[in-house]
Parts: sequence; C-alpha cells; structure tokens
Amino acid sequence: MQTLFIGGRLFDGMNAPTDGVAVLVEDGVIARVAPDAEFEGFGGRIIDTSGGTLMPGLIDCHVHLCLGGESDPRAMREGMDPGYLVLAGLQRAQATLAGGITAIRDCGGMDYLEFAIRDVCNSGAQLGPTIRAAGKMICMTGGHGNAIGRVADGADEVVKAVREQIHAGSDFVKLMATGGVLTPGVNPEDAHFTLEEISAGIHEAHRFHKRTASHAQGTEGILNATRGGVDSIEHGMFMTDECVEEMVARGTYLVPTLAAGHRIQNDEALQAILPAFVRAKIDRISGKSAASLKLFYDAGGKVAMGTDAGVPFCMHGDNARELEFMVEAGVSPLDALIAGTSNAADLLALENEGSLAEGNAADLLVVDGDPSDDILMAARTENHRMVVKRGLIVNEVSLIR
Ligand SMILES: [Zn+2]
Repeated sequence: MQTLFIGGRLFDGMNAPTDGVAVLVEDGVIARVAPDAEFEGFGGRIIDTSGGTLMPGLIDCHVHLCLGGESDPRAMREGMDPGYLVLAGLQRAQATLAGGITAIRDCGGMDYLEFAIRDVCNSGAQLGPTIRAAGKMICMTGGHGNAIGRVADGADEVVKAVREQIHAGSDFVKLMATGGVLTPGVNPEDAHFTLEEISAGIHEAHRFHKRTASHAQGTEGILNATRGGVDSIEHGMFMTDECVEEMVARGTYLVPTLAAGHRIQNDEALQAILPAFVRAKIDRISGKSAASLKLFYDAGGKVAMGTDAGVPFCMHGDNARELEFMVEAGVSPLDALIAGTSNAADLLALENEGSLAEGNAADLLVVDGDPSDDILMAARTENHRMVVKRGLIVNEVSLIR
C-alpha cells in the first residue's frame, strides 16, 4: 500500500525544515521525497500533516532494556525469572516506540536476555524499535557495572571479553572507563580501565567492525577512552577543555544522557528513596552533564541523543524529553533534532534510518507545529500526532501496555 504524507513541514533529519515537500511511503520504505505538486491526483492513503512537521523517528543511543527505572537497580535482578525479564524488556521497547523513538541502542544488558528482544523486534516478529545491543558491559574487577557486566583485568583479558561479546552476538562493545553512580563503592571521578586496557578492547572490537561506546564520567577516563579510539563517550560528566579538544579532533561522539539525572537531581522526594550509596554521589554530579555538553557543543563537537532510560526514574517511553534537556543546556533546537536523528543513526551505523531520504526505512514521527521553533513539539509526547515504524502506524497497532 502507498501512503502519502503531505501538507505540513518536513524536517529531513539534517537541514532546517521546509514547506511544500511530500513523502510517499510504500512497503515500509520511503519511496519518494518530492514537491507536493508531483502527487496531484494521488489515489492512495493520504496523511494530512498540515500545521505539523513530518520528521524521522527519534533514535536513543543509550538505554538499558533490562532495567525499568526502579529506585534501586539491584532489585530487578533479584528473584526475577529470565522469561519475565524478557517480556518486561519487550514491553519497555514497545513503550519506547510509542514515545516516538524508532531505534535504540542497548548499552549493557543482563545475561544476553536483551538479544531476544532485539531479535524479535528487528525481524518484525514483534513491533518495536530497531535495536542495537552491546551484550554485557565490560568492566574491571569491582568496577562500575560489575554485578551484571563481564569483569576483565589486563589487556589480554579485556580482548577476550570483547571476543566473548562478539561471539554471543553483540552489535557493538561497551567498555567502562570510569566509576559510576549506580554501583556501590566506586567514584564517577575515578578512571577504571587503564589506557592500555581500554585501547586493547577498542582495537579488538574495531578489528571485527564493531563500534565501541564507553561509559566515561571522570576526566581521566574520558581521555583514556578517547585516546584509545572509542566511537562515543557516554555521559562525559567531568569534561575539560583538553577532553573537548581531543574528542573534536578525533570526531568522537558525545552521548550526554541528561535525562538520567534529570528527575533525581530536581526531586528531593525521589532522592529520599534512592539507595544511600547513590544519594551520596548526587551532589557531586549535579549539573555536570549539562555543563559538559555546553562546553563540547560550543567547540563544534558531534552530539548524539541518548537518555540512559532504565536507570532510576528515567522511564522507557519518556526518551524524547532528552531533546528539551539538550536545548535547556544550550543546544539549538535544530541541532538537538539532528542529534536525535541523523547523528544518532550515524553513530549506530544505521544507514537506512535517521533521515528522510528515498530508500530509507519509513520510520517517521509527525508532530504538531515546528520543533525547530519549539523543541517541545518533538520532546513531549502530547504533541506527537503519529509514530510510524517501517510504514506501520504504531498508534493504530495494539501494543502490550
Ligand atoms: Zn547506561
């Protein structure tokens, strides 16, 4: 069936929105992008986008499907059946799609359960976003994420851990360069893997054409991962001019994950129910991600959208709000939209997603107004009119809710 999206503005994922251009979708693919006049007398289904903007579906480069925003992330893995966790993760992926996010990157799962969710969504057996998954995050003994990650020490062991992830079916490799907030007994400021260890892991992943992402909050860890050749720095909280300079020179992406801290930094009642070891670190990291993003963005750095959905109170389905947090931090609305579409697709190596071009997947979002004027049109789901995944209108398809 052919469906024509016509009447409103069009944001193609890269350039400022334009008027008078329509998009024809056929068999789940964008068949034609052309001036409205070309489609006079069109006889198929017409979606009138007047007063709104047609844009690519958003892409979230940092989620955890095995986590559901629980106040204590340790709770989810205690006493839960793997089958239940898979179904809960599928539900989270579908809630994410309903929230306007048509592709996600899972930045660290549990026992490869997330691969099952990825595979049923990517094959089309279940409706869901396109999913890229890391498998187990790789960390040092006692390091951030060690409860569910693959612990490795020394360059040889890190190389082996990377090979294990690739053998298990990982799309990319996640390496932990620093401590973090949600692991007891570690500091976000401290570097974890040494330069030698992280470089070895990144090099091994790249040998097999896998991208790499590094959880890197402290300055030394950001520098280690960047110098090791990582493709993206996740969080990047304690960014310095030196970090910015080296990242920009190498074309390293920053995935700021402002949503991760947004609710807990601004809500004392929520803070009160967090585990004490998490609470103790909040003041040290408050506002750091936004300041780092501003420093990096002002220097011309490449930004891709990511939320850390799944960490405490950062809910799957609310992902699009990251756009408004980026704008609050100083990013222009148009650049925030680019970070959430074509830049994110570039980082994830999704060649046929993230922009409205002929031959690309018909992964679309129709929003009210023009989000390059008012980012809330894309950031708030109440302003979303329609989400389309491979040509299917998601709102018309029943999802497990
Ligand atoms: Zn994360």
